[in-house]
Amino acid sequence: PTATSPTSPSLFTKRRSSRAPSLVAELRRRLENELEGIRGAGTWKSERVIASRQGPHLRLAGGILNFCANNYLGLSSHPEVIRAAVEALEKFGAGLSSVRFICGTQSIHKDLEEKIARFHQREDAILYASCFDANAGIFEALLTPEDAVLSDELNHASIIDGIRLCKANKYRYKHMDMQDLEAKLQDAQKHRLRLVATDGAFSMDGDIAPLREICQLAQKYDALVFIDECHATGFLGPNGRGTDELLGVMDKVTIINSTLGKALGGAAGGYTTGPKPLIDLLRQRSRPYLFSNSLPPAVVGCASKALDLLMESNAIAQSMAAKTQRFRSKMMAAGFTISGKDHPICPVMLGDARLAAVMAEDMLNRGIYVIGFSYPVVPKGKARIRVQISAVHSDEDIDRCVEAFTEVGRKHRALP
Ligand code: PLP
Repeated sequence: PTATSPTSPSLFTKRRSSRAPSLVAELRRRLENELEGIRGAGTWKSERVIASRQGPHLRLAGGILNFCANNYLGLSSHPEVIRAAVEALEKFGAGLSSVRFICGTQSIHKDLEEKIARFHQREDAILYASCFDANAGIFEALLTPEDAVLSDELNHASIIDGIRLCKANKYRYKHMDMQDLEAKLQDAQKHRLRLVATDGAFSMDGDIAPLREICQLAQKYDALVFIDECHATGFLGPNGRGTDELLGVMDKVTIINSTLGKALGGAAGGYTTGPKPLIDLLRQRSRPYLFSNSLPPAVVGCASKALDLLMESNAIAQSMAAKTQRFRSKMMAAGFTISGKDHPICPVMLGDARLAAVMAEDMLNRGIYVIGFSYPVVPKGKARIRVQISAVHSDEDIDRCVEAFTEVGRKHRALP
């Protein structure tokens, strides 16, 4: 430090006649103001704590707190999930070197399909290498040029691509806009079959599709409902069954596609679950299923164990919900706008793309790993930092993240 060190000379020099406790309180207040001034001026110097010896490669103490994975339930590193993968690998080998219908169906694939159907309370299920594949396969196999598909404009890219591949008549309704959906359903009455397709939870905004209203409209206009549950399976609803359970419409949603690569162990894989004849048809007609390799046994082992854990108890899902609530309420109390409601995807809305980028960078400097999203991933002027909560974050982790956001937000004037 140089002789121009900015410590206030007036801090200790003024006389105070009051009793000692209030003198200390006064001192504390002044010091805090002074510190706040340093932070506000952007000249705050943080010290990184090194946990290794000095050298070109360092390990920092405390590591980096991760708030940007889809590991909602923390099952990606759950010891039982890992053990199940190792056991499946040893018993069933590395892979099948085949697609399912030639030489690639093992008992564990059939068991997992049965378990998925039971978890969702549906008739049957079919596995894919990914949910991207499940979305790529379903629309083309199910819908003909006589049919219509009505899709939320903010649906995931894989739904959009899947719909592109099919020859049905295509309608795109405004995001979660039930008036627009109704108008499109009225227009689609001329077609043989109507399918409404929506994400259950939207990953950029953490908002949840109004499934009750969608199902009512579907009933009124004789349509089927399809939901993509990648950001809901395992944790939304009282037993983690997903958006349909959360909103009380499990018996009204006909088809569910979801992933094994997020909350359910995080390895890879996807599936469709629904009526048995539909699943039978997909086994015959769905191109990503027919022409792509079987899921590797280790991946099947992970997902199978993850589902066992969730069917035994809803404690993990409940714990994640409590952490989400803690983060959302503390961030809002600090003055941030958090998009969505009750979802572990917590987008911290900032507006400006540069602000989102520099704040995310500064968060990493403070040991918190979060990602800024800007155009074209989200609309222009709606840049944000997306925070994702997991059941395995501790309350202290959540509080550390909120504190870092508050500091960084003040520094960059995203907070008053
Ligand atoms: N659908 C949604 C809503 C997603 O967020 C994703 C993954 O990002 C997918 C589908 C694709 O899932 P998978 O990684 O299993 O291909």
